[in-house]
Amino acid sequence: MTHVITDECIVCGSCETECPENAISMGDEHYEIDPEKCKDNAACVEVCPVDAIVKQE
Ligand code: SF4
Repeated sequence: MTHVITDECIVCGSCETECPENAISMGDEHYEIDPEKCKDNAACVEVCPVDAIVKQE
C-alpha cells in the first residue's frame, strides 16, 4: 500500500504542491492521496503540520 491522509488533516493544502507525482488532491472531507499515483517518496509527510500523513502497511 501507500501513504494515506487521516482525519487529522486540517485542509491546509501544503502537501498538495509537494507531491512530485501529483497524487494529492482535495477529497470530500480532507485531502486524499491517489494510491495509483503514490510512489511512497514521503515528501508530503515532511510538510504536514499535524502529522496527518501516515504510511499504510
Ligand atoms: Fe492536510 Fe497535512 Fe496535507 Fe495540510 S499537509 S492538507 S493538514 S494532510
